[in-house]
Amino acid sequence: CGIVGVIGKEDTTEILLNGLEKLAYRGYDSAGIYVNSQSGRDYLVKEPGKISVLKAAVGPEVQGTIGVGHTRWATHGVASQANAHPHVSEDGRFYLVHNGVLTNYAELRATYLSQVNFASETDTEVAVQLIAYLAKTEQLSAKEAFRKALTLIEGSYAFVMIDRNDPETLYVAKNKSPLLIGVGADFNVVCSDALAMLNETKDFIEIHDREMVTLKKDKVEIEDLDGTFIHRDSYHVDMDA
Ligand code: GLU
Repeated sequence: CGIVGVIGKEDTTEILLNGLEKLAYRGYDSAGIYVNSQSGRDYLVKEPGKISVLKAAVGPEVQGTIGVGHTRWATHGVASQANAHPHVSEDGRFYLVHNGVLTNYAELRATYLSQVNFASETDTEVAVQLIAYLAKTEQLSAKEAFRKALTLIEGSYAFVMIDRNDPETLYVAKNKSPLLIGVGADFNVVCSDALAMLNETKDFIEIHDREMVTLKKDKVEIEDLDGTFIHRDSYHVDMDA
């Protein structure tokens, strides 16, 4: 159970895979990454089993400048390729990783998503399908669909999402599961534990429960779910990876 994300780095794939290895001590049963070149190419690779299995499945073509990675500790659905994260919405637009447990996923699915074909047995997939549903039926931007979904979702989560149609942003949120922003020079990262990103930066910003963050390579915008912006300074971690 770990999350990593990167925006604004040429070696995104390597950073994600190294970060996932740093988080492996927490335990996991599956791992996956989604990487987008920001010029039309993107890659989703996920496997049950060890990170070494994932690494072997990641070919040299998997390169990009924005991406997310996940180690899964299954709570809903067996350890399988279909249940591994990242999860993708039915329309292929949104990619989401999640740590935690969504308590009202069955109600959300019954209320909003009865027409959707699900690819996994996870609670997480309900979140990404809900975001796509809200974007489409309510004509919301990715950010506003993400926000609205967060107001409907109950339970614990660390979320990082990418919109394939506009892969300039990592959409980040947390509630009762750990997640931090790591700040760089013309890049930014996100991780469930600073340990995963100490090779990239020593400067981190806390995210509090029920806040969301719009993360670009040169911008960190924190707000609450009502849209009130929050300024928070970074802190320096004096430690080596
Ligand atoms: N509940 C989600 C799942 O079973 C996320 C588990 C995790 O925190 O890794 O896929």
